[in-house]
Amino acid sequence: MKVRVGINGYGTIGKRTAYAILKQDDMEIVGVTKRRPSYEARLAVKQGIPLYVTGKDDVATFENEEIAVAGTLEDLTQEADIIVDCTPGGVGASWKELYDRTGVKAIFQGGEDHSLTGASFNSFANYQESWGAQYSRVVSCNTTGLIRTLYPLDRVFGLEKVFAALVRRGADPGDRKGAPLNAVEPSLKLPTHHGPDVQTILPWLNIHTMAVKTPTTMMHIHCITADLKKAATEVDILSVWDNVPRVKFVSGKHGIKSSAQIMELARDLNRPRGDFMEIIVWSDGVKVEDKTLYYYQAVHQESDVVPEIIDCIRSMMKLEEDPIRSIRKTDRTLDIGK
Ligand code: NAD
Repeated sequence: MKVRVGINGYGTIGKRTAYAILKQDDMEIVGVTKRRPSYEARLAVKQGIPLYVTGKDDVATFENEEIAVAGTLEDLTQEADIIVDCTPGGVGASWKELYDRTGVKAIFQGGEDHSLTGASFNSFANYQESWGAQYSRVVSCNTTGLIRTLYPLDRVFGLEKVFAALVRRGADPGDRKGAPLNAVEPSLKLPTHHGPDVQTILPWLNIHTMAVKTPTTMMHIHCITADLKKAATEVDILSVWDNVPRVKFVSGKHGIKSSAQIMELARDLNRPRGDFMEIIVWSDGVKVEDKTLYYYQAVHQESDVVPEIIDCIRSMMKLEEDPIRSIRKTDRTLDIGK
């Protein structure tokens, strides 16, 4: 029996989660929700994905546009074993009462607070903590990116202290809201929420973050310094990441000097939607001086959390006990990794 997954919110993360679930043999999509009869609603129907609406009042709006509706979100909670809530940040919390009432399990996204679920998820660092859980939260794109490269370093060398400056994309490519048009906008409330968010998974890590928003839609770039407990060379650091799934190297020497060429590489590799689910590290932008490591990484904000969502479903639905087996299966089916 496949695990039946419903997706609430069929936007940037919801669409990609649906794509990833369609590639798995141990789970299936039983429906997605839309609030408006948009092109995305029509695309879901075209792909044969049952379309649900948020509330009863929305049914007529869709039917007037001749879009077949399978039911409401509440109906979807009856069809599904687990809901992946992909509604905008803060909105997911408003649906928790429904999930509580109907008893369906749910995964929330990084736009919600850790306190909503009491559990936050990363495939490598704490897969077992969501084992059989009723609720969990896959941390944000930036937090996922930081944990993917920092956690393995902490295991091998130990991390005394980390500082990360996040150069953030202004908005997603299909979006405009909140993006500075011709400006760079610092987050003035310090430290930014990213460090504490990493600590929801790695509570022992001494990490501080700052962030600026920039007028690009492409990727986030992280400039990271980490004080190591044990001495290491650049070669040692690269070799650790080389053995970790979902971390990929690029090189300025080979012409990849910015997020633009990384996204071009994703298209050249025929990655669906031009996504890069791995965290991209510039191998020639890594430096160690007196046990302090400096490096840059790029995060494709629209897609890096998607493999974690698939692994989180496996953990919460007790489909696979071994995190590495789940990670490898997800990566093989999504054709990502090394
Ligand atoms: P989005 O705006 O692209 O999609 C949200 C979807 O939810 C849309 O289909 C929208 O119609 C629907 N929606 C809006 N209000 C709703 C409501 N009240 N009830 C039900 N559905 C509603 O958002 P997104 O970028 O996919 O973000 C979803 C979540 O994922 C957020 O928590 C966000 O913080 C997190 N996240 C986003 C990114 C990113 O860069 N886009 C990366 C990682 C995590």
